[in-house]
Amino acid sequence: MSETLPIPTVHTVADLRAIVSGWKSDGKTVGFVPTMGALHAGHISLIDIAKSRADKTVASVFVNPKQFAPGEDFGAYPRTLPDDAARLAAAGCDLLYAPNGPEMYPDGFATSVHVGGPSQELETRFRPHFFDGVATVVTKLFTQVRPDCAVFGEKDYQQLLVITRLAADLDLDVDIIPGPVVREADGLALSSRNVYLSPENRVRAVRLNALLFSCAEALEKGEPISGTLNTARMIAESAFDLVDYIEVRCAETLSALPGPVLDRPARILAAIRLGDTRLIDNVAAHPA
Ligand code: AMP
Repeated sequence: MSETLPIPTVHTVADLRAIVSGWKSDGKTVGFVPTMGALHAGHISLIDIAKSRADKTVASVFVNPKQFAPGEDFGAYPRTLPDDAARLAAAGCDLLYAPNGPEMYPDGFATSVHVGGPSQELETRFRPHFFDGVATVVTKLFTQVRPDCAVFGEKDYQQLLVITRLAADLDLDVDIIPGPVVREADGLALSSRNVYLSPENRVRAVRLNALLFSCAEALEKGEPISGTLNTARMIAESAFDLVDYIEVRCAETLSALPGPVLDRPARILAAIRLGDTRLIDNVAAHPA
């Protein structure tokens, strides 16, 4: 236990298990919110959901090296544990689990969890090892915390579907609960990476959500998917430094939509770059 942080905090699996086992033997249910820290209101909204679904809430803060490729921002990723602990305490979270690297991946660690299905394409085209890293750490975290439910943000929509698939396929016995995207007043999705944006790029970033919402409006009016996407891609190419993708996919499976127009609940997903910062966002679109 750490005495300097304003919330009960554990750093080892043994200490974590001692506390969670105590709760379980008292008949309490456990909700879990895994994070990489640098917490903002989006993360806290997931804590609120976990608290509404379970008796006790655990949050983890672990910057998972396995989901960063060489050259990505693992070293630079913001690490703000005292602030994170204060936010979690204020939100009424019961326990912070902040393992270090060797606790999670001791010498000799040699296992990787691969999920197919929804992990294919989109993010995987640009970050091929990302979901293996995510699935591996989430499998470990679930095994360590043994929660009844876990809350994941729709901000990382593909990740949410990958984790839902993982939990079902491996009978992990954890309810995966989605949390809606929390946005700034101007619509920019909150992200720990927004701190990387220069003031000028912060202004440009707002065009991402505006573009996705206008795409959704067009598709919901019955406009053709391919024309709508072509226009969106052209606008994005001029608004951003690089466009990794803008796609419309089935909201349930992330497979491509068969028809020329929206015929089922869909998600419009995008990843773009502004300077060195990569932003992802997505919005829902429903057929009339
Ligand atoms: P991260 O710390 O970025 O790995 O995110 C931890 C969890 O917070 C994931 O389930 C994310 O999808 C979720 N999250 C991040 N940003 C937001 C947001 N703006 N709104 C809702 N959930 C979010």
